[in-house]
Amino acid sequence: MQRPIVPFIKLPEGGGTPYLVGSRCKACGQVYVGTRRSCPRCYETGQMQEIRLSDRGELYLWTIVHQSAPGINVPYVAGIVDLPEGVSLRANVEGIEPKPENLRFGMPLELFFEVVRQDREGNEIVAYKFRPAAA
Ligand SMILES: [Zn+2]
Repeated sequence: MQRPIVPFIKLPEGGGTPYLVGSRCKACGQVYVGTRRSCPRCYETGQMQEIRLSDRGELYLWTIVHQSAPGINVPYVAGIVDLPEGVSLRANVEGIEPKPENLRFGMPLELFFEVVRQDREGNEIVAYKFRPAAA
């Protein structure tokens, strides 16, 4: 059994491609990460529509993490990724050496999913990450 590490990862039944879930307000158009019942921007309720967020984005901010909790491999790249829907996600960026010369603001990234660990019941915990987008 696979389980998402955060509630806004959707793991389709039957092994379909995972994706990130967002909500779009039908009243004002604002998009949020995850499922919401009401819109914090315009206060409408009952207008939220569940959407599939893009699997491509741009690197907005990044930092190279050299110290972390035990069991977490360092260094790694922690980033903020902007999606075309106007939402930002905190995500690790992989697929490149974690060196400043390999990173630039605005670089195109693509989403991928990976099993990062097992929980006590033996479920595979699935996380989302980004890597440089294929040209
Ligand atoms: Zn709204």
